[in-house]
Amino acid sequence: MPATILDGNKIAAAIRAEVAADVKTMSAADARPGLAVILVGNDPASEIYVRGKVKSSEEVGIYSEKHTPPASVTTEELLNLVADLNRRDEIDGILVQLPLPAQVDSKKVLLAVDPAKDVDGFHPTNVGFLSTQRPGLVPCTPAGVMEMLGRSGIKIAGQDAVIIGRSDIVGKPMAMLLLNANATVTVCHSKTRDLAEVCRRADVLVAAIGRSGMVTRDFVKPGATVIDVGMNRVTDPAEFARLFAGNTRREENFRAKGSTLVGDVHPEVAEVAGAITPVPGGVGPLTIAMLMANTVKAAKMRRGSKVPELSRV
Ligand code: NDP
Repeated sequence: MPATILDGNKIAAAIRAEVAADVKTMSAADARPGLAVILVGNDPASEIYVRGKVKSSEEVGIYSEKHTPPASVTTEELLNLVADLNRRDEIDGILVQLPLPAQVDSKKVLLAVDPAKDVDGFHPTNVGFLSTQRPGLVPCTPAGVMEMLGRSGIKIAGQDAVIIGRSDIVGKPMAMLLLNANATVTVCHSKTRDLAEVCRRADVLVAAIGRSGMVTRDFVKPGATVIDVGMNRVTDPAEFARLFAGNTRREENFRAKGSTLVGDVHPEVAEVAGAITPVPGGVGPLTIAMLMANTVKAAKMRRGSKVPELSRV
């Protein structure tokens, strides 16, 4: 039986609707949540991401503003900008779009963001809150994965979860969230021995690697839930053929554009998995939806109101 497709667009729309309802209530009480995005320089990918974030804010009614210092900006100048945003009461969320230029001390800038406004959940204070199960702001992508699992009725407690990838923004917080939800968690990385064998133990397998179609069917226990966080642009025709030979829709698209967006999971996995996220249209849409949810959460926490967790996980 082919895997159930976990539709990220549908789940993200449901989250956005909940967020929009909250924003409406808060705005009526003169407490509209506000998000400030800092975009340094002219990196085309970063510009696209920021455009999506600003557009999404507008759609759910969150006030948003964009700050665009030039690529020549100094650490000092960015620290001043962050300090100003930290001070402004109407700003609930501050997002520094990464990567920052080489001359900027990125860690110093991220550390300067008030943890109460850290909607990316990267500040060590929020990392600590997550690992000690205190209320805080959780990185958007893994938080989105938890929403997807919870809202799709996928069991976590007592299940074996395997995560490939240990980055600070995806792999590690993903592991912590699954552990907090009572899964038995294994984290794999580039030095893991017998990777496919370890992955085959998983009831829930999360791939956050950054390598197109690396997870093949021999990594997957039949019936497992497979979450594909990867977003890789494939331009090499041979690699495209390895992944999509015979898929006429993708072939037409690849011929027209010269590239295609691919996850870390090979499409053949859909033949063995019980449920799987597509790329595009899986985890990606949830990341922005959770940024909106985090901004509202930050606004509520800053105003001292109790924040009900979105997730049913
Ligand atoms: P990083 O490059 O920071 O981390 C990749 C991780 O994968 C590392 O822990 C690395 O191990 C591990 N890894 C790399 N190669 C192998 C291998 N051959 N075998 C086992 N493990 C391996 O990436 P990110 O976590 O930032 O992102 C991962 C993917 O998710 C990317 O494709 C990215 O584009 C995508 N992404 C998608 C988002 C979304 O919204 N859908 C949001 C954020 C990221 P080691 O630590 O040993 O080097």
